[in-house]
Amino acid sequence: MLALTRSTKLWERAQQVLPGGVNSPVRAFRAVGGTPPFIVRGQGAILEDADGNHYLDYICSWGALIAGHAHPAVVDAVCSAAAHGTSFGAPTPAEVELAELVCSLVPSIEQVRFVNSGTEATMSAIRLARAATGRSKIVKFSGCYHGHADALLATAGSGVLTLGLPGTPGVPSAVVADTISLPYNLLDPVRQVFAEVGEQIAAVIVEPVAGNIGVVPPEPGFLEGLRELTAQHGALLIFDEVITGFRLAPGGAQERYGIMPDLTCLGKIVGGGLPVGAYGGRRDLMSLVAPSGPVYQAGTLSGNPLAMAAGLATLRLLQEPGLYERLDTLSQRLAEGLRAAAAAASLPITVNQIGSMLTVFFTPGPVVDEASAKRSDTAAFARFHRIMLESGIMLPPSQFEAWFVSLAHTEADIERTIEAAGAAFRACMA
Ligand SMILES: *Cc1c(COP(=O)(O)O)cnc(C)c1O
Repeated sequence: MLALTRSTKLWERAQQVLPGGVNSPVRAFRAVGGTPPFIVRGQGAILEDADGNHYLDYICSWGALIAGHAHPAVVDAVCSAAAHGTSFGAPTPAEVELAELVCSLVPSIEQVRFVNSGTEATMSAIRLARAATGRSKIVKFSGCYHGHADALLATAGSGVLTLGLPGTPGVPSAVVADTISLPYNLLDPVRQVFAEVGEQIAAVIVEPVAGNIGVVPPEPGFLEGLRELTAQHGALLIFDEVITGFRLAPGGAQERYGIMPDLTCLGKIVGGGLPVGAYGGRRDLMSLVAPSGPVYQAGTLSGNPLAMAAGLATLRLLQEPGLYERLDTLSQRLAEGLRAAAAAASLPITVNQIGSMLTVFFTPGPVVDEASAKRSDTAAFARFHRIMLESGIMLPPSQFEAWFVSLAHTEADIERTIEAAGAAFRACMA
């Protein structure tokens, strides 16, 4: 049994002063049960909790830490930035450098605005799309998560799905009245909606690879179809690349799939583990943002020097040739090993993997959208999660999340994970 004495004490205190004991719902382990370990340290791919237990980490700050924990280059960059002052509320060189790097890496981004979270990025991109088109309706896909802005909480993935919430009290129906939610990976419903109300649709927002119902890659033609339909009807296509940006390729999913969205939302990796989001796109669209245009959007700590330093250090690390191939190879090996281990235990699972993101679904599959993801046996996942945790492997505490492989993961880490999973699969069947 894991000794979680200190974590348990912290958990009791946390529940007194933080709603549900946490500052973000999925961290509470509700879907898998037990006390969440309180983390005191991360180094490379390893986490240490308050009781001194060590875990091989596949959460990686929900994808932000592609370079692993406390990478020396990132730590150095943040420390030296901090020594020069943590915030000025004035322009700084680092934000220009990071913006230049983002614009040079992401194919469709000519100008970018930094914000403090992925939520702010999608919220602002939607505002901009509505202003640019003079239309109000937004099309999203069920199970896609775009942060917690009111208009985007309808049929959201991630914690909303994990906790089985239909929507969210506190969001007035008028605010979601303009949000149309359709199944992921199907073009016909999108065609139909455009035929009916195409002239009212400001934008289609999509995770080009869904990561918040677990990992679900786009079916061939899905993203191409969205590009075509939006262009035909004068609506914008927004790629929410908060997870996929800088993960699936230097230029994100849009580079990997060769599709140019009008606007792109970034987060997670772009901040290198500090709070950063960004939205960007064509210059004619971005020039509508204040102060060059009338669409207001601001932030006291936006472009924060520590956050810019962490993002810059991380993106610079990623420029080394061969890194994405290495991540792909490790992740493919993990996916194949997990499939073989489950087959050996006669446990029907589906592993969806693309690049360094993957999910083990406890269903024979295939998993192509929210409905098929929800066929997973979440009780079996919870048992699996618990056994893996006991074996020193930290998986996201929900069936409906992505596992992330980082540059700090080694081949030995992957083999150890496959071995532990084999034992856990057998125990799940027992
Ligand atoms: C995490 C996430 C967000 C929200 O980002 P926050 O920084 O948590 O606000 C938005 N979109 C996607 C696809 C995400 O995975």
